Amino acid sequence: SKAAGRNTRRFFDPSMQARVLEHAELANDVRKGMTNKEFVLFFQPQIDTNLNIIGAEALIRWYHPTRGLVTPGHFIDVVEETGLILPLGQWVLDRACQVIAQWENASSTKNLTLSVNISARQLMQSDFVEQVMASLKRSGANPQRLKLELTESMLLNDVQDTILKMNLLGDQGVSFSLDDFGTGYSSLSYLRQLPLEQLKIDQSFVQDLENQTTIAQTIVTLAKGLDMSVIAEGVETEEQYRALALYGCEAYQGFYFGRPMPLNDFLARVEHHLGT
Ligand code: C2E
Ligand code: CA
Ligand code: CA
Ligand code: CA
Repeated sequence: SKAAGRNTRRFFDPSMQARVLEHAELANDVRKGMTNKEFVLFFQPQIDTNLNIIGAEALIRWYHPTRGLVTPGHFIDVVEETGLILPLGQWVLDRACQVIAQWENASSTKNLTLSVNISARQLMQSDFVEQVMASLKRSGANPQRLKLELTESMLLNDVQDTILKMNLLGDQGVSFSLDDFGTGYSSLSYLRQLPLEQLKIDQSFVQDLENQTTIAQTIVTLAKGLDMSVIAEGVETEEQYRALALYGCEAYQGFYFGRPMPLNDFLARVEHHLGT
């Protein structure tokens, strides 16, 4: 009723009310943006020790009609809270699989992998495996080229269920990378149970290598001990790259090698790389 509405309103402080409104508005904008196809994927190169481009991470961007290019930091939390991450995440998967299918057609791109961020809400869906399989099937993408990035905290929700889903997708050739590694609560015992192909060293350790040397080094060693590959994210300088290479890191991602960019720019980079 109106009276109840007026009463509850008193419990909101003004800034909180503004935030609630902002969130509601933002959620509406996201819905409209999805209908109007305002979302795109950007691609950030991933590089190996020979400085070859081995793949990319797909990162969502929003071409907002008035705000311009918006990065996920401005909307992903609201998208998660409202559950809009389910349709948006499905769109990301579909688009990523389309791109993988396109890449299969050219020798310069057919061996590239594409890493896709998966949110906890998506992974928790009972039909998550079916949704990923459907995206792969619709596009004709090779599952071996698809890498799903999960974070530590989301794996803890229901470890057995997560392992089951990872194994089902793994059987089809899909692989998994543990994003932001080192910032969560992984215990070594359950890390061993998870069918992970890769650990991704969080950028906080990479960007503070002078003080955090042991952490980055330990993660590289840990990955090798667990028979996983390892990639460092947030590599911004040559010094960081060189230090990581000394520790035995095998793959890199960061502004030093390339910012997230539109697909055509990424493809131009791949071609250019081959020519040099
Ligand atoms: P993330 O998965 O940890 O992605 C890495 C973020 O670090 C990206 O920010 C990337 O642009 C940025 N980055 C890459 N290299 C460097 C570097 O050298 N230095 C610095 N300072 N930053 C670097 P972005 O694109 O703004 O994405 C932010 C977060 O939004 C992502 O963090 C991820 O959690 C989320 N996100 C992005 N795309 C998607 C998506 O399609 N689905 C979901 N669920 N989440 C997404
Ligand atoms: Ca990621
Ligand atoms: Ca990350
Ligand atoms: Ca992150």
